[in-house]
Amino acid sequence: MVRCAGVRMTRQRRAVLEAILESDDHPTAAQIFERASARISGLSLATVYNCLETMSAAGIINKLHLHNGTSRYCPNLFPHAHFTDVNSNCIYDIHLKPGRSLQDVFELPEGATITGMTICLRGSFPTTSHETEKQ
Ligand SMILES: [Zn+2]
Repeated sequence: MVRCAGVRMTRQRRAVLEAILESDDHPTAAQIFERASARISGLSLATVYNCLETMSAAGIINKLHLHNGTSRYCPNLFPHAHFTDVNSNCIYDIHLKPGRSLQDVFELPEGATITGMTICLRGSFPTTSHETEKQ
């Protein structure tokens, strides 16, 4: 059986992983369950939760804990932050500016090494002139 980061890729895990990889909306477990269920039959929500826990513990996917307490899942393994648009509730991947590192942004204790990051930002986008005209 194929393994990914030491995790046996069962039929269920593969369907769950594919559902996440094809998503760019940082889906919830319930959304992943819906999408993975369209791929294989007999999947349960409990199995999806188990798959998500196993794969996030193995570092295959990222589990996000957002402000409202809902867990979301992200397939992007590059270091990045998340920005939630408070108007649409959409979550966007935010990358560091080219050539910058977290050490440039934060006052870290002397000698500290960053081994991971979880940064969740909230905000909104400026109203476009088109939207202003409609109001
Ligand atoms: Zn992300």
